[in-house]
Amino acid sequence: MVILSSPSGVGKTTLTKKIQQKYQSFKISVSYTTRPPRSNEVDGVDYKFVKKEQFEQLIKENQFYEYAKIFENYYGTLKKNVDETLQKNDIIFDIDWQGTKQLSKFKNLNLIKIFLITENKEELKKRLMTRGQNTSEELEKRFNSFDEDIKYWNDYDYILINKNLDVCFKQIENLILMNKSKVVNFPHKAE
Ligand code: 5GP
Repeated sequence: MVILSSPSGVGKTTLTKKIQQKYQSFKISVSYTTRPPRSNEVDGVDYKFVKKEQFEQLIKENQFYEYAKIFENYYGTLKKNVDETLQKNDIIFDIDWQGTKQLSKFKNLNLIKIFLITENKEELKKRLMTRGQNTSEELEKRFNSFDEDIKYWNDYDYILINKNLDVCFKQIENLILMNKSKVVNFPHKAE
């Protein structure tokens, strides 16, 4: 199971999709969220979009492995989805540091935790602006969360700088292949 976290705008979603395209065994964990869909997002593919009341009901029923409130909306990983996917596939999680902390508590999960950043804050701002999918208020919020997000670097196994998409993809690929071979060769050491 691979966790990819990053401040918004670093390219995580693109990289996640690239991994899935190349490695059919990897499925992207589709999170539940109360955030409204962006124009290019499809319900059930990018996220499962639900109302706040529905999300809070699922919290009450203890249906999430992890969830967090980010930019005033809930985001969470449903236990049922992960358990079903894991029967046959590897999983990539596109979640934040709060979710990573919660998933790390499940010691039986074989997690590779990767944190992605841009080379500097200016580059991040540029990418957020060219993405053009957020209002200026949302953009500001996402940009300002950078300083908060990077405080949690220590919770990750690897930190990668996404300066060039292809290079970064190759680095992620190598990490996955390296960790997979460890699990295959030394099953008794897999936690
Ligand atoms: P966005 O609104 O830009 O799609 O996502 C905002 C943030 O929410 C991103 O950092 C993304 O990784 C995080 N996120 C998406 N799904 C989940 C989830 O299920 N759990 C947690 N903890 N974070 C999530």
